[in-house]
Amino acid sequence: TMEYGPAPEDRGPADTWLESHKRTFGHFIDGKWSAVKGGAHFETCNPATGEVLASIAQGGDKAVGDAVRAARRAQPGWAALGGAGRARHLYALARLVQKHARILAVLETLDNGKPIRESRDIDVPLVARHFYHHAGWAQLIEDEFPAHRPLGVIGQIVPWNFPLLMLAWKIAPALAAGNTVVLKPAEYTPLTALRFAEICAEAGLPAGVVNIVTGDGRTGALLVENEAVDKIAFTGSTEVGRIIRQKTAGSGKKLSLELGGKSPFIVFDDADLDSAVEGVVDAIWFNQGQVCCAGSRLLIQEGVAARFTEKLKARMETLRVGDPLDKCTDIGAIVDARQLDGINEIVGRSVAQGARLWQPAAPCPSTGIFYPPTLLEDVTTSSIAAQEEIFGPVLAVMTFRTPEEAVALANNTRYGLAASVWSENINLALGVAPAIKAGSVWINSTNMFDAAVGFGGYRQSGFGREGGREGMAEYLRPEPIPSAPKAVRAKDAAGKTKP
Ligand code: NAD
Repeated sequence: TMEYGPAPEDRGPADTWLESHKRTFGHFIDGKWSAVKGGAHFETCNPATGEVLASIAQGGDKAVGDAVRAARRAQPGWAALGGAGRARHLYALARLVQKHARILAVLETLDNGKPIRESRDIDVPLVARHFYHHAGWAQLIEDEFPAHRPLGVIGQIVPWNFPLLMLAWKIAPALAAGNTVVLKPAEYTPLTALRFAEICAEAGLPAGVVNIVTGDGRTGALLVENEAVDKIAFTGSTEVGRIIRQKTAGSGKKLSLELGGKSPFIVFDDADLDSAVEGVVDAIWFNQGQVCCAGSRLLIQEGVAARFTEKLKARMETLRVGDPLDKCTDIGAIVDARQLDGINEIVGRSVAQGARLWQPAAPCPSTGIFYPPTLLEDVTTSSIAAQEEIFGPVLAVMTFRTPEEAVALANNTRYGLAASVWSENINLALGVAPAIKAGSVWINSTNMFDAAVGFGGYRQSGFGREGGREGMAEYLRPEPIPSAPKAVRAKDAAGKTKP
C-alpha cells in the first residue's frame, strides 16, 4: 500500500552512536568516560515501544566524589580564562549543538517519547539559543557584573521532561560565570546529556569543567550532600525540592529550586476563541502535558464556556497520539510507566470526587505508554483535579463570572509558576496579569521561553530565576571589598603618627 505524508524521522545515526558505545555508558568525569565494567547499571528505555536503548551507570560515592574533585581542580583555570575566553567555548558549544541538532533531537525523542517535531523545532533550537545567549553574558561579564566572582563548583540536578533544555538552562549560565559543574540527568532520560558530554570534548572544553554523573535520586542525594559543592541548582518536583532544601539548610551551599506548577489558563468572554483553543493545545498538550508551567487549569468566563469547550473538543478530536518519531504526531508517549500510573491515579481520584471525564474517540496506540488528551469538567476549586499537579495531558476545566473571580481562582493554588490570560481587551488583560501570583504571565500566548528572560516561581514553585540577568546572578557572588593597605596608620591631632 502507498503511504502519504512525511516518513518517520531516520533514527539510524542515533543507533549508530549508541552502538559505538556498545549501548553501555559510564560517567563523563574529568574529560573522560569512566570504566563501565562492574558497578551498578540500569536501563533506559523508549517509552513508545518498550525497547531498551542503553545501559546506564548508577553513580555512587566514588563517581560523585571523583566528579566534584575534577570540577574543583578545573575551576581556577576556567575562571582565569576570563569572560572573553569562556565566551569562545560557549559559542563553540552552541555551534556544535546546532551541528549535531538532528541526532540530539532523535535521541531526545527516543529516550523521552516527545514528538520529533517538538524536539527538533523547539527543544534543540532553544538549547543552542541558550548557549549563544550565555556566551554573550560571558563576554560582557566583567562590565555587567563588576566586583563579582564565580561560586566555584555547582551541583546540578535536572528532570526528564526537557532533558537537554534543562541541562542548557543549568550549564550555560554556570559556565559563563566561571563555575565548573557536575550535572546529574534524570534516570529516565540520560542520553542527550551523555551525547552533550562528547560535544564538550569536541568543543575543546578543558577537562573537568563539565562532568556528567548518571543515576537515580540516590546519586542526586550524594551530590546534594557533598561538602565540596558550593551551590545546588535543582529542577524537579516540589517534593524532592523540599528534601533538598532541608538537606542544604545550614550547609552554606547556595540553592535554587525550580519546582512544580498548576498554572491557570484564563479565557475571557471577549477572547479570540479560535486562537485561545490553539493556545490550550500548546499549554497542556505540548510535551504530553509534562511541562512545569503547563496551563493545566482552564478557567473560562461563563458567557463563552459552552461554546469554547465545544470548539476545544472538536480540536481535540484532531490531535494525533502516536509514534513520536512520526513527524505528524501531536502527542507522543508518556516518559515511563510509573508516570502513567501517577496520571491514572489522580484522574481516578478526580472522577471519584465528581469530575466529568471527556476524551476524544480515537484510541491510543495499543503498545507503548500513551495517555489521550483529556478534559476534566465540573471540577470544584478544592478538588484534586484543581489542586494537584498531574504532569500529564489532562486539563481541569472551571468557569468564572468576573475578572475578580478569575484572579481569585487563578491564585487558589500552592504554586505560582506561570499563567496565561486571553482577552481582546488589553486593559482587562494588563489589569489582571499583575494580580496573578506567578513568575511568568503570558497574554494571548503561552509557553514562551527566552534565554534573556528570567524564569522561575513563587510559593511552592520554588525560588531563584533561570535566564537573563537574574539567572546569571544566581551563579555569582559579590567580591569582598579589598582591605585597606596595612601601612596606613591613624594620625593624632598634632599630626604625629601614633605608635
Ligand atoms: P523529581 O523531583 O522526581 O526528579 C528530578 C531530579 O531529581 C531527577 O534527576 C531525580 O533523579 C533527582 N532526585 C530524585 N530524588 C532526589 C533526592 N532525594 N535528592 C537529589 N536528587 C533527587 O522530578 P521529575 O519527576 O523528574 O520531574 C517532574 C517535576 O519537575 C514536576 O513537578 C515539574 O513540574 C518539575 N519541573 C519544574 C520545572 C521548572 O522550571 N520549574 C521544569 C521542569 C520540570
